[in-house]
Amino acid sequence: MSGKLATRLIHTRGARLRPATVNPPLERASTVLLPSVAALYGEKPAYGRMGLTVHRELEAGLATLEEARHVRLAPSGLAACTLALISVLDAGDHLLFSDAIYGPTRRFCERTLKRFSITAEAFPPGIGAGLEERIRPETRAILLESPGSLTFEISDTEAIVALARARGLTTLADNTWSAGVYHKPLALGVDVSIQALTKYVVGHSDAFAGAVMAADDEIGGRVAEAAEAFGIGLGPEEAYQALRGLRTLPTRLAAHEAAALDLAERLAGHPAVERVIHPARADHPDHALWVRDFTGSSGLFAIELKPVARADLNAALESLAVFGMGFSWGGYESLVIPCDPQLRRSPGDWTGDKAGPLLRLHVGLEAVDDLAGDILGALGRLAG
Ligand SMILES: *Cc1c(COP(=O)(O)O)cnc(C)c1O
Repeated sequence: MSGKLATRLIHTRGARLRPATVNPPLERASTVLLPSVAALYGEKPAYGRMGLTVHRELEAGLATLEEARHVRLAPSGLAACTLALISVLDAGDHLLFSDAIYGPTRRFCERTLKRFSITAEAFPPGIGAGLEERIRPETRAILLESPGSLTFEISDTEAIVALARARGLTTLADNTWSAGVYHKPLALGVDVSIQALTKYVVGHSDAFAGAVMAADDEIGGRVAEAAEAFGIGLGPEEAYQALRGLRTLPTRLAAHEAAALDLAERLAGHPAVERVIHPARADHPDHALWVRDFTGSSGLFAIELKPVARADLNAALESLAVFGMGFSWGGYESLVIPCDPQLRRSPGDWTGDKAGPLLRLHVGLEAVDDLAGDILGALGRLAG
């Protein structure tokens, strides 16, 4: 391009290399240039808000992962949860949600939806077909998270889908724990699967992203309409990071799984540990449901400790050198948090908090012997 410097600095497109690279080009774009007036009002994409090349490729990958026909991207996992809910609920509706759902999603259900005249009510995650008694004439949807990411109860998806279908209710499931690799809600008849891609898909603790996935065209259309109405999309850098993470997701998840099961076994016999809470272990109360509906487990589980003074527990956790303390999970690094302060459960629904503290562990990709040495050493301070 010829012209003055200011013009030439803007029109650098002639210098752009477009060889056949392995990865798609990352387009940082609001404006899309179109070749004619007809194309302005006829061609898609005509604007960057709902994403361009990288986004379409990420959506295609997620559709494959979750056996979905429709995928919508969101700027965080929480935004994906709220987008999914707002897509399927109208004023006057009643929502039933698992008592084990992610805390900020629960807050949205109980407080924000209420402002729009939508009522929300928790049910015990293990209620199964007993949920039928909670259904009201105005009940519209049921939200699951199985297993819950603090307490790891598995819901009976089959029973809940059956009763929802019989009554024309929409079912949604937050599928972040399995990352879509080990659990396929849509294949089990759930209408909407949601993931915080921030966790395992991104996998490196460096970006936020979320996705809402559906098999049915009508529901997919409602999610698309809500996403466009609210302007909910994902930035290109984050979409790129999620797409990059997706390539190695099954490989990484298998390593998280193996290390977590190994560590869980070593923790199970420890004198400071009351019980290990991991649905893939035979002693988990919902193990049979996990066997039926899951093909594997990820790196996130909990342990309940024997009663211990909080100050001693805090000192033990602060002595850890390999495990870090921090929120979120799904990255390559191992994390631990005391998570009972986060529990927001209906009275009587979770009995675990009556005993010792609950620790949640995310088992990363470090050598498992180093992880075991670290956490067993810290727990040894409590038992001794
Ligand atoms: C982290 C998380 C979310 C929210 O994801 P963000 O990207 O942090 O907003 C939603 N659901 C579950 C189960 C999560 O663990």
